[in-house]
Amino acid sequence: MPHVVTQSCCSDASCVYACPVNCIHPTPDEPDFLTAEMLHIDPASCVDCGACISACPVDAIVPHSKLSESQQPFLTINADFYKEPRPRPVLAPVMPAPEIHRDRGPLRVAIVGAGPAAMYAADELLTQPGVQVNVFDRLPVPHGLVRAGVAPDHQKTKQVSRLYDKIAAQPGFEYFLNVEVGEHLTHDELLAHHHAVIYAVGASTDRGLGIPGEDLPGSTSATNLVAWYNGHPDHADDRFDLSHRRAVIIGNGNVALDVARILTADPDRLAATDIAPAALEALRGSRIEEVVIVARRGIAQSAFTVPEFAGLLDAPDIDVVVHPDEMVPDPTTELLARDGELSHSVAQKLSLLRSARLDGEPGHGRRRISLRYLLSPTAISGDDRVTGVEFDRNALTVGEDGGVRVESTGETERLEAGLVLTSIGYRGVPIAGVPFDHSAGVIPNADGRVLDGPGGSVLAGAYATGWIKRGPSGFIGTNKSCAQETVTKLVDDFNAGRLREPRSGAKALNRLVRERQSAVIDRAGWKLIDEAERSRGAARGRIREKITDQAELALIAGPAGRGTETTVLGRLRRRR
Ligand code: NAP
Repeated sequence: MPHVVTQSCCSDASCVYACPVNCIHPTPDEPDFLTAEMLHIDPASCVDCGACISACPVDAIVPHSKLSESQQPFLTINADFYKEPRPRPVLAPVMPAPEIHRDRGPLRVAIVGAGPAAMYAADELLTQPGVQVNVFDRLPVPHGLVRAGVAPDHQKTKQVSRLYDKIAAQPGFEYFLNVEVGEHLTHDELLAHHHAVIYAVGASTDRGLGIPGEDLPGSTSATNLVAWYNGHPDHADDRFDLSHRRAVIIGNGNVALDVARILTADPDRLAATDIAPAALEALRGSRIEEVVIVARRGIAQSAFTVPEFAGLLDAPDIDVVVHPDEMVPDPTTELLARDGELSHSVAQKLSLLRSARLDGEPGHGRRRISLRYLLSPTAISGDDRVTGVEFDRNALTVGEDGGVRVESTGETERLEAGLVLTSIGYRGVPIAGVPFDHSAGVIPNADGRVLDGPGGSVLAGAYATGWIKRGPSGFIGTNKSCAQETVTKLVDDFNAGRLREPRSGAKALNRLVRERQSAVIDRAGWKLIDEAERSRGAARGRIREKITDQAELALIAGPAGRGTETTVLGRLRRRR
């Protein structure tokens, strides 16, 4: 009975190396690893040993016999990946861990950012004895997009934070949370206390459309809504007007799917999760009946991934509908399909889209998500607030490079809406004193070594990993192989004597940080916050109740807060 990879696959490839028969693909050394939307188990080779289940940090692997009704599509999704034979060695080749030459003394590395990219880099460094890793984040809480990006109804995916807590529990690891590099500390100051600095700051802003009306009340980015429902401290006081019947989302990537699902889900289904309390309350009062997700290209170019769309189709309380006129693939896709040359993911997407409902009126009290295609937004309309979006209708053409592009047909369409969310991708932001490639929105780098400009020279001691290195694409686990590449370069430089010895040690760093930011939160402080959130959640039948107030977080975590939660809250009330 084979095992099956299901929706929450994070693509970190831990299962690949645990498998004794190399039946999980693509492996990190295979060319399609970076573009694959999940990993797949070959049912013909799986020996049912279960080693992959123990290795998976997000419980994505399920024995065939234990698949739930909703997980059944993943049986075909896994099996179809092996329709074409894949030549493979007996075991997946393991990437060698970077090895530090002992005679060079203890390596000290600062990592800026505390999300998945940072945690995988820390893990990779800590495989070597005697390494000290100091992780800085401007937020008072760690785990980046796992905490503030992954949707609250995807708790299996959020489970990966248990792995990050294990990484942080290793000797040699310390957090400096609530400390902003570029504000409290400069790059040069960090470098004076470490051999190297790794930037793992992600892509913390979103791309804009640059069309009229984008700044009207009622128009915002999907990532703002994501941060709000996930309790990001910067968005704790945000308010969204959910009093209208329809919301429109521009762009159809996984972020658009997450947001549409949360806006249409039954709030009772979200109540036990870690959704921010204010967001849950607002969603209970929401009058949104329909969320329309609009893409400028066609069905075969849908940016969402197969596992996420399969999961959406199975949501118990949501109808997913597609406009019948737009269910037609472009001529290139049709040709490829006819010749049996369609990629696995496009073939799966088309097949899943065909199983969505074709257009119809919303009804029987269920909310719906409508997928629309071939529409480019030209303006967001309204006088004092958003009332709708104007679109140009597109036809698809094939560019010289074979890419599918759009061309306006001259027809237009308007969609009435009270809320418009732009979801066209994240973008990195520059850090003071660190080079930045403004056109690509990343730190310029060569395989993780920071360059002094795009195509420029290596900046000694500076490295990048994750979205700020390669742009906002891939899944949580993709950051693992990305971090391995960066850490390998760093260790090579250390071994070759290319990194300067730090001028000052741990004590001087602690003193400097506390001088600049007295409310710094360390590893023990994060543990206190984590415990407080879990116990508050447990008292209300929830996984966790996130604390979003910065002052309260600092008080619980700070030296003054090292008492019981009751005494901390008492102090906080007296302070107010
Ligand atoms: P994305 O996947 O890059 O999708 C961006 C969407 O915006 C595409 O539909 C794109 O259309 C459209 N777009 C771009 N510029 C546009 C413009 N000027 N006008 C109209 N449409 C435009 O971005 P994302 O959804 O933000 O996701 C970012 C990354 O995070 C992805 O790798 C995603 O898989 C990952 N993520 C994963 C999960 C998960 O696994 N559960 C959840 C959230 C995010 P074109 O294709 O035509 O350019």
